[in-house]
Amino acid sequence: MSDCVFCKIADGSIPADIVARGEDAVAFRDLDPKAPVHVLAIPTRHIGAVRDVSGPDGERLLGSLLRFAATVASDLGLDDRGYRLVANTGPDGGQSVFHLHVHILGGRPMGWPPG
Ligand code: AMP
Repeated sequence: MSDCVFCKIADGSIPADIVARGEDAVAFRDLDPKAPVHVLAIPTRHIGAVRDVSGPDGERLLGSLLRFAATVASDLGLDDRGYRLVANTGPDGGQSVFHLHVHILGGRPMGWPPG
């Protein structure tokens, strides 16, 4: 999508601190980190949010995005202490960029419940 910042990161037309590229996904550091490690994993194809995914293709995409996020977390050394994966969805979920993304947060203990 032409006016989507995460599409532009995925196609390289705006810079980002890329930590990994997969076949259909890319991971880059969040501009405004909320934890010592804060990386976003996104599908390269534009999809607004988790709620916009359906059907077998959507299931495959979500499965491979989660698997990709877990591999990135592992490669960043987060397996021993653990980490949190978050997919904010819609206004009540706190989503601010409407291109599906999974936050990978680690490097400190996370509180619960979230704010
Ligand atoms: P959310 O609020 O769940 O939609 O998360 C969007 C995240 O994208 C926020 O944590 C922002 O800090 C982050 N963000 C927005 N623009 C950029 C960018 N150009 N590069 C990296 N992270 C970004």
